[in-house]
Amino acid sequence: MMVTAHNKEDRMYCACHSVLSTRSAARHLSDEVVEWVCAPSRDEASDVAYAVNRLLGSLLKRDYVSALPATRHVAKINNRMADYGCIRSRRHRKVHHER
Ligand SMILES: [Zn+2]
Repeated sequence: MMVTAHNKEDRMYCACHSVLSTRSAARHLSDEVVEWVCAPSRDEASDVAYAVNRLLGSLLKRDYVSALPATRHVAKINNRMADYGCIRSRRHRKVHHER
């Protein structure tokens, strides 16, 4: 597994946390917005905030910028890294890491 540690907290993340193309960051954001609209919750709102930060990061050639508060989502991805070594949900991880 490829691991990167270049965000400001020096946490270890999988390859999914590397700098995104603006195109794929925008696609992630639109997916999260759809999920949030379908089932509004603080959790989904945090997912959207995180996706916005990733999209802004892609424009600045960075993996992530802390423009919007996404504490819940960041806690979630840290738990996922600890559990199964990927920042994404199990469903998405399967798609990403097997490609
Ligand atoms: Zn991953």
